[in-house]
Amino acid sequence: MNVVDSEVVAAILQQHNYRLTEKVNEADLVLVNTCSIRDNAEQRVRARLKELIRIKKNNDGMSVGIIGCMAERLKEKLLEEESMVDLVVGPDAYRELPALLQEVESGQKGINTLLSLEETYGDIRPVRMDRNHVTSFVAIMRGCDNFCAYCVVPETRGRERSRDPETIIRESSVLFEKGYREVTLLGQNVNSFKWENGSQVVAFEKLLERVAKIDPLLRVRFATSHPKDMSDELLKVMALHPNICRAIHLPVQSGSSAVLARMKRKYTREHYMERILTIRKYLPGVSISTDIITGFCGETQEEHQLTLSLMEWVGYDFAYMFKYSERPGTFAANKYKDDILEEVKSRRLQEIIQLQNRLSLESKEKDVGQTYEVLVAGTSKKSEEHLFGRNSQNKVVVFPKGESKPGDYVNVIIHSCTSATLIGNPVH
Ligand code: SAH
Ligand code: SF4
Repeated sequence: MNVVDSEVVAAILQQHNYRLTEKVNEADLVLVNTCSIRDNAEQRVRARLKELIRIKKNNDGMSVGIIGCMAERLKEKLLEEESMVDLVVGPDAYRELPALLQEVESGQKGINTLLSLEETYGDIRPVRMDRNHVTSFVAIMRGCDNFCAYCVVPETRGRERSRDPETIIRESSVLFEKGYREVTLLGQNVNSFKWENGSQVVAFEKLLERVAKIDPLLRVRFATSHPKDMSDELLKVMALHPNICRAIHLPVQSGSSAVLARMKRKYTREHYMERILTIRKYLPGVSISTDIITGFCGETQEEHQLTLSLMEWVGYDFAYMFKYSERPGTFAANKYKDDILEEVKSRRLQEIIQLQNRLSLESKEKDVGQTYEVLVAGTSKKSEEHLFGRNSQNKVVVFPKGESKPGDYVNVIIHSCTSATLIGNPVH
């Protein structure tokens, strides 16, 4: 999401004659796009700011701005705490950047952290900052209305709103015409995408189908899906279109229904398991990934075990795993005690990571001997002689270069693997 936001910001500034540079020392303006999701994300921003301020001290003409969720969360306080920062702009105020920069030029501080009920930047064509020109992200909605007890997103990114589908189709079509071969539709909860225009209502499955129909050579992915909204209609549409990738990211957060209730996730372990069975019924061979939070308020050893047993039952292909980090202002921070000791959180996280490493390896081992269509994304980081790309299941595949180039589809037969990568040879 932040990558797309940076691309939107770059587009707005380009319209006002700013140009991108890769070299910090040459920049007149450095904007740090920030995340508040966990405390360590904010700590990293603080460290980066220290570095930038050092550069700024040797470069009178340089301004430094903080944009994104941390700007929204801390507002004026950020200008007090980071006195060398010139600009603080929240996620719904990027159109104001040029005007705020004029204030900064006249020696004032610029700040705008107003959230909006409508802003989707739907009309702005992001300036792509990816390096491969093969895969790209398209934001289809902003904000979130779910208010999970631990989560700061509804506060920092505001109410949920969907973007005009016509602008999404246009942006995706232009990407395809420019040679891109994969778009990932992004939102905090894409399954609740809803665009109403008079009597016409466009739900997520309809949008997804329209993007899939742009061209069979355009792969479509989406993230993130909330288990409470993962509908059969969506799975039916996926089953009909082979270019909608066979990979579903379905964050579970915890395997215990009691913890899920405390987290205000609005589903149970049983509902989640039923959804997994249904997903696999419609989409055989689909890969399933997840997000897990360990050490949430009051989590008992038994509740932790339920997370491990659910992971094993699903057999996740991939997972993002986090220690619970209390965020000021959230329901959990206000109502519960962050009572799991740091060492217990660390131990549980280690157990979860170890289990996932095994599950990831098992998932890759099952692919040995199979042939997959791989969309080539670039040259392997480890070897000039090899290309890398992903299969529909979102697994990274590495194979010898031959004649192929980024953007090509290549059938690769897998001969070996690690827990992170499939290794194979092109099939001619
Ligand atoms: N909207 C998506 C993901 C949002 S943030 C969803 O609902 O799934 C990405 C992930 O960060 C979440 O899925 C969750 O696992 C994690 N996360 C969010 N708040 C957190 C917190 N306070 N502490 C630790 N992890 C958190
Ligand atoms: Fe946060 Fe929950 Fe919304 Fe995801 S669905 S962004 S975890 S509040």
